[in-house]
Amino acid sequence: MEAGFKRDLNLPTTGSKYIKLKSKGDKLKFLIAGTPHYETKHWVSDREAILCDKYNSPDKKADCDYCSQYAQLIKDAGSDKGLIEEANKLRPQVTFYYPVLDLTNNVAGVFQTSPSVHWTIVGYSEDDVDVFKCAWSVTRTEEPGKYYETRRLDPVKLTPEQEEVLATAKTLNLERGKQSESVVADKEEASTENPKSGDDFIAGLEADKKE
Ligand SMILES: [Zn+2]
Repeated sequence: MEAGFKRDLNLPTTGSKYIKLKSKGDKLKFLIAGTPHYETKHWVSDREAILCDKYNSPDKKADCDYCSQYAQLIKDAGSDKGLIEEANKLRPQVTFYYPVLDLTNNVAGVFQTSPSVHWTIVGYSEDDVDVFKCAWSVTRTEEPGKYYETRRLDPVKLTPEQEEVLATAKTLNLERGKQSESVVADKEEASTENPKSGDDFIAGLEADKKE
């Protein structure tokens, strides 16, 4: 078959279980299937990301060469906006991984998303919303201050087919990252998790919120 340069080729869907909102206007409607994970990386080039030794370690005092480099670059940059922007490319960046039932395409996948989306969901959770019962939508708006728009939707009556896909989503191996402590599928899991990794980790997350 001719492939052309279209994306809608009929290929077996092995592999790419990660779901990302790649362009402005992209939207995902989903159910959260389990406890999300997160990991912190440094983008050392446009293509290469390296796990941060500090924030992926249970020891919050662990050293990370890239964190040190970043701190130095920020220090050297002073108030020069251009240099700060350049330095920020190396800042520790947090990615969240949510196992989901994608309600648009009815597939199980891992939604790879930003701290701002996570903290919005955490906010609902803190208001006693059962975040696993309702549906969600996230839209990449690229608007300043609201790069991603996260909405809580009504619970969805699942078809038997969707129930099956949700069951699959629950078994997805997230493979990477640490479990979230703030959106937890089964409250009992919380006790087995690491204690909070400290204020500076939260500061890192805050920095990412500005995205
Ligand atoms: Zn680091």
